[in-house]
Amino acid sequence: MTLLRSWVESANSADTPFPLNNLPYGVFSTKDCPPRCGVAIGDMVLDVTAVEQLGLFHPFPARFDLASWNDLMEHGPRAWAKFREILTALLTEGSDEHAQIEPLLVPLPDIKMHMPFKVTEFTDFYAGKHHAMNVGTMFRGPENALPPNWLHIPIGYNGRASTVVVSGTDIVRPNGQTKAPDAEVPSFGPCKRLDIELEMGAIIGGTNAMGDPVTVQQADDMIFGYVLLNDWSARDIQAWEYQPLGPFQAKAFATSISPWIVTKEALEPFRTSTPAREKDLLAHLVEPGPMLYDIDLAVTMAPKGKVATTIARTNYNQMYYSAAQQLAHHATSGCAMNVGDLIGSGTISGPEKSERGSLLELTWGGKEPMTLDTGETRTFIEDGDTLTLSGAAKGDGYQIGFGACTGTIRPAKSFPE
Ligand code: CA
Repeated sequence: MTLLRSWVESANSADTPFPLNNLPYGVFSTKDCPPRCGVAIGDMVLDVTAVEQLGLFHPFPARFDLASWNDLMEHGPRAWAKFREILTALLTEGSDEHAQIEPLLVPLPDIKMHMPFKVTEFTDFYAGKHHAMNVGTMFRGPENALPPNWLHIPIGYNGRASTVVVSGTDIVRPNGQTKAPDAEVPSFGPCKRLDIELEMGAIIGGTNAMGDPVTVQQADDMIFGYVLLNDWSARDIQAWEYQPLGPFQAKAFATSISPWIVTKEALEPFRTSTPAREKDLLAHLVEPGPMLYDIDLAVTMAPKGKVATTIARTNYNQMYYSAAQQLAHHATSGCAMNVGDLIGSGTISGPEKSERGSLLELTWGGKEPMTLDTGETRTFIEDGDTLTLSGAAKGDGYQIGFGACTGTIRPAKSFPE
């Protein structure tokens, strides 16, 4: 696949995250208009609600005046493909609609982004082997690092949809109960070990009825698109609360996602297989083809008012389980999945120290502080720090970018005496 040329000149640059090959879906507002559907193209966003009002999609079953993409998702893969085909034709070099469409482009710097879809439910997995090995080694030693189930099922837990927020939303440091190893009793107060988790989020656009499992292929067909996802984590709260039912308040206070849904179709040329299985999977979790993607990922950290330092680089192709396998596993018992469900991949770490997707791993539990380009050191996140995830699949003379997933930490709220 090579660059598809658009009459939007900025979309033809090898450096733009949003060439015609991408066409990611977001929800934006300007000072003159309330939140509405938009598609990024080069350094502009196409006002899709306005395109619909011009009648250029008709006849088309889905609505684009709802300030979310859930309605298109509800209409299924044939509608997804048809919509993308129409958009591509409107924006391609030489399009007959060029003059009609051009006034509906808004410069990206003039817009504010909102949640691109309504999150129905959020489930987070623990499916990166390097991450699981690192964390397991820290807590249980290298021999017992991986739990006995890990190579047979993708481990997950049910998270909170209510606190999934769009990139750019400030994150308030959580309060909670913690217990230091040498303390006799727990104490209550602001989290002292606040962390990120570099993940990808898969957005579900299909459903299965309660009681009906799905195959891995059916699961892949149900995925609408992907975003970057930061699963903010309070490590000290997590350490005290997590046994035996898993994380609860340590993960419930915030999850950030990037503002543009990158479709599965845009990522199609970048499909890749999961790594070799160390133990054969049972048949219900075997992938019929490549269902992971080659996407370069990076994390930066910037103290308040200072330059950002890149603290990690890795790739989504490091995951042991794909989102399709996770979704198939999620539905094995007959659990109903719905349009708008969000599935977190689990922290994405590579084999090298510079490829670790959390501060817990990068600073080895806080024992090995990092030095930033500003000269400051960090173990975990301090108030005022801004953490940013970025990602792009690299093609021949073009890239499929996700836009940033960023968040700045605000001080914890004080409790009344
Ligand atoms: Ca996570």
